[in-house]
Amino acid sequence: MTDVWQEACLNLSKAAKIIDLEPELVERLSCPMRFTEFTIPLRRDDGRKELFTAYRSLHQDATGPTKDGTRIRASLTPQEIKALSLFMSIKHAVADIPAGGGKGGIKADPSKLSEGEYERLVRGFMRRLLPKGAFCDVPGADIGTDGRAMAWMLDEYEQITGIHSPAAINDKPAALGGSLGGHEATGWGVAKCAVMAAENLGLKPGAKVSIQGFGQVGTITAQTLWEAGFKIVAVSDVFGAIANKSGLDIDGLIKHAQKTGRVSDFEGSEALNDSVLTIDCDILIPAAVQDVIDESNASQIKARLIVEAANAPITPPADAILLDLGKTVVPDVVANCGGAVVCDFERTQGLTNDYWTLTTVKERLMSRITLAYTTSKQFSDERKVPFRQAAWALALQKIRAAMLYRGWC
Ligand code: NAD
Repeated sequence: MTDVWQEACLNLSKAAKIIDLEPELVERLSCPMRFTEFTIPLRRDDGRKELFTAYRSLHQDATGPTKDGTRIRASLTPQEIKALSLFMSIKHAVADIPAGGGKGGIKADPSKLSEGEYERLVRGFMRRLLPKGAFCDVPGADIGTDGRAMAWMLDEYEQITGIHSPAAINDKPAALGGSLGGHEATGWGVAKCAVMAAENLGLKPGAKVSIQGFGQVGTITAQTLWEAGFKIVAVSDVFGAIANKSGLDIDGLIKHAQKTGRVSDFEGSEALNDSVLTIDCDILIPAAVQDVIDESNASQIKARLIVEAANAPITPPADAILLDLGKTVVPDVVANCGGAVVCDFERTQGLTNDYWTLTTVKERLMSRITLAYTTSKQFSDERKVPFRQAAWALALQKIRAAMLYRGWC
């Protein structure tokens, strides 16, 4: 059985073959440029001292300062952090973002920490993190962290250096220089990719959409597609699934989910016993967790189009099954790169002290997403390779160019 890092390296080697990437570069990109494991001593509220393990993986920085999220969860593994840093290198290159790939995290269960303990842990991460700063490595939020945690990380950084540096941390609140549109960015990008891919397949607004996951990404994607005239026929969260063949009222569902904390029991819907993944629909959007489409359910999927809002929701064997069945899959590195794009906008705004309106952020985001989608699609069509491999190959071409110009190989 392969782990998530091996799966990421498999994608890398498949794409590398398409562009005849030099073996020396394949070897270099098949391990992070720098991987650090460190400990954070935490003083518990009752006075006990406890050590927590933290990681930061910098995959490569030929294309710019390394950037991206900080994940806090009990089952965190070094392999996961390494894989995510490689994904970020690819995602940044696909979207023409001048940044390398980074990812970090702390092995801890946030639900078992008091607010004070959580804050001290996050600040401890920032104290121990090396290197850091707007021009070398820029952390942001991920699972288990949010704008509040990023505010503490920024404050800690500025207390250490004595310099105001809004560009040193991403995903912070707007009051500290965070970008407008950061919350919506990934969902907007997923919806834009779904619309473009639907058009390519001749699917019109009115087409049926099923969405797994109704969190930050799932809600914005559902709302954007619903407003564009698509029919959202099924939605699920970790507690259950609901459906309505005529389409769900998404504004009403968002209010219901905000009030009750779940999608179940929404008026005008019926509980769904089958999986939202295999229901009758035209477009399937997995927006929850990884590896949900595997060999056990891939051949039962009815949708013609699958747009990967979550990271790695399809296992490699399932990907091969879907390809054989002629399904179109818009890969995660294209479909969900909107958050990474707006993080880059956030850093740019922090560096220039020029803060953009929501309209400007959205316009610039849409043009980056359109470019990422169309160039990957064109490469896929011209070279007759799957969309995923096309996106990775294009990204690798850009990383290779940066490495060659630097004389690194
Ligand atoms: P979230 O925590 O806000 O929402 C996750 C949703 O998935 C929740 O509704 C949860 O109930 C549901 N869920 C969890 N496990 C489930 C399961 N087994 N079956 C059905 N539903 C389940 O997370 P999010 O920010 O919306 O992110 C969703 C996915 O998108 C994650 O895989 C994340 O890594 C990926 N992603 C998010 C961003 C971003 O900007 N937030 C960017 C890129 C990728």
